[in-house]
Amino acid sequence: MAKLEFKGRITYKNQKKLPASILKLIKLSPGVTAYEPIFVDSSGMQALRKNKSSDSQGQGLSTTAGLTVPAFSLSFENFDKQWTKKDASGGAQWVFNGGAVYLNVELAVYILQGYDDPPKAYAAIVEHEYLHVYDDSVLVKKTLPEELLKDDTYTKPYLVEGKAVSDSTFQSVFKGDRYLKWVEPIWAEKRNERERFRDSEQEYKRFRERIDDARSELVRPHGRPELKPRQKTPIH
Ligand SMILES: [Zn+2]
Repeated sequence: MAKLEFKGRITYKNQKKLPASILKLIKLSPGVTAYEPIFVDSSGMQALRKNKSSDSQGQGLSTTAGLTVPAFSLSFENFDKQWTKKDASGGAQWVFNGGAVYLNVELAVYILQGYDDPPKAYAAIVEHEYLHVYDDSVLVKKTLPEELLKDDTYTKPYLVEGKAVSDSTFQSVFKGDRYLKWVEPIWAEKRNERERFRDSEQEYKRFRERIDDARSELVRPHGRPELKPRQKTPIH
């Protein structure tokens, strides 16, 4: 049988390119394309945070300047060709012939309305969000495939070793969504680990400094009070 290959695929809900004036202020990780964020108001942002099951911060009601929301799915390259039915004495069985299984993530990057100014502060928020995007990409392209290849319940016996699956198991697990439901918590656990690191105090500090500096630069020349209260900017 052909070899099983997990392939990570990233798509973006964001479609518009970032303006060059912002793009030049952002340092992007390898392989990452930055799109213009989707702007939401504060109640929209709160709703997004509440819905995001992987939210580990427990700060659902605090102001959040940015948020990257992933939607995970799993698909076979060519399902009908990848599975062969065999008649066995105990009933029909199915054998996996190998090929690609896609680990898909659709990413949506949100920014709170009004946070696209000043440009340097905006760029810092976008840059932080695109570190989550980078993490999500590494997750489906590398970390998750490695994790799944250790899975003795479904992945190793049926998808790697090509062991025959009973028809009822095949129908619910692989044709139905039980395999997806099996993989999703593994993906979520790894994502939460990475997110906790990205949103740790240590990581936030450097972005917060850039944001706060950009804001004070904006008001310094005229000696006016700052437009927004000087606070620890939560990014996410
Ligand atoms: Zn974050």
